[in-house]
Amino acid sequence: MSDLTLYNTRTRQKEKFQAIDADCVKMYVCGPTVYNYVHIGNARPFVAFDTLYRVLKALFPKVVYARNITDIDDKIMKAAAEQNVAIDEISSKFTEAFIEDMSALNIEQPDIAPRATDTIKEMLDMIEALIAQGHAYVAEGHALFDVKSMPDYGKLSNRALEDMLEGARVEVAPYKKYAGDFVLWKPSQENEPGWDSPWGRGRPGWHLECSAMIAKHLGKSIDIHGGGRDLIFPHHENELAQSQCAHKGEAFVNYWLHNGYVNIDGEKMSKSLGNFKTVRALLEKYRGETLRFTLLSAQYRSDMDFSAESIAQAQASLDSLYGTLRKYADIDVDANIEIGSEPAWLALLDDLNTPLAISELHALAKTLNKAEGDNLALQKAKSKLLRIGSLLGLLQADPEAWFTEAWNARANSEELTTENIEALIAERQQAKLDKNYARADEIREQLKAEGVVLEDAREGTSWKRER
Ligand SMILES: [Zn+2]
Repeated sequence: MSDLTLYNTRTRQKEKFQAIDADCVKMYVCGPTVYNYVHIGNARPFVAFDTLYRVLKALFPKVVYARNITDIDDKIMKAAAEQNVAIDEISSKFTEAFIEDMSALNIEQPDIAPRATDTIKEMLDMIEALIAQGHAYVAEGHALFDVKSMPDYGKLSNRALEDMLEGARVEVAPYKKYAGDFVLWKPSQENEPGWDSPWGRGRPGWHLECSAMIAKHLGKSIDIHGGGRDLIFPHHENELAQSQCAHKGEAFVNYWLHNGYVNIDGEKMSKSLGNFKTVRALLEKYRGETLRFTLLSAQYRSDMDFSAESIAQAQASLDSLYGTLRKYADIDVDANIEIGSEPAWLALLDDLNTPLAISELHALAKTLNKAEGDNLALQKAKSKLLRIGSLLGLLQADPEAWFTEAWNARANSEELTTENIEALIAERQQAKLDKNYARADEIREQLKAEGVVLEDAREGTSWKRER
């Protein structure tokens, strides 16, 4: 069995993953603040870490994955006030929507989905421990973390404290000893949600919520903590400070993982995708699996462009792969197929190199198409394709249904749009590369039936409408 290597933000290098307890790996990912629909950029960590969760489960007997729901936050309060509804109406509506969107992206349910409002007691305990150990203080109804009390504060972001404070919007307040001190607890007005505490009625700071939920559900030390790169400072830096100081210096997280940005607000993006930026809106137009494939087509740490073109490319790839699976629908599958030396598996073990794993899926499809007539070879290749697919959260749908539904979606549009035609041409190109000539011919015929004629030339395929 090869080793899993992961890029650790704290050490700034790829490291061999070693579990604290190989019988039970613990992973935590910061979940959504439930005040609106998730944006495709917010969905990226959930897809990336879901893929890691699947890989870990293939490597270790037990994995406990916790992904929280932040259901108390000023953003939720603001949304409730603007819409003139109760706070829990907003938070339950968007929690439900989040769960639905995640499921549409083939994201497995985490083992634990703690809610911040169920963890208030643990938050208060943590603040008391921090105060008792000289890491926090109380001022004007606030409890604040005393940043200067922790000599290595800032080590996760690896930047000088003053630089970090300059970059982040740090609230300057008269009750702070130092501008970088952050809120653990703050007072609530009468009309705001709040809980009783030794420092008056109030509510927790966001950073504290994650620290308390991790301590409650996973323990003082965990293997992996993930999130978007934008969370490194201040959120994760502050989680680290609170947890490590409350637990008397005990290590908090061994591997910090952060995903890159999804560029969607660039001019090109908004033009091609219009308002389709929330997962919910994208799902009106595209399948969840296609969106997941698009996100996985870049390695999780790199920034990526999300556009109608990249979605069309993903759809073409999926159509091609499902086309091969449909062609060999009668071939039996060995669910326990050995994949230990498969290039796609090795790619996943190398800090989740999903683009390489995906190109290896195409290579497996090509092997399948070349194995025509050799039943044993067909069975092996198909089993591997499906097994690797399941680790990526892809290719688990019924291939026949995949095509009927896809064609229905296209048939429902008023006409075959340029975008659809180009997606089909890209799919045909991929089918040819995979030596799936039957599918390539089928696409040519389907387009012809719609009045679109293809002309192949050395520099590529052009097309024109005949009517
Ligand atoms: Zn968090």
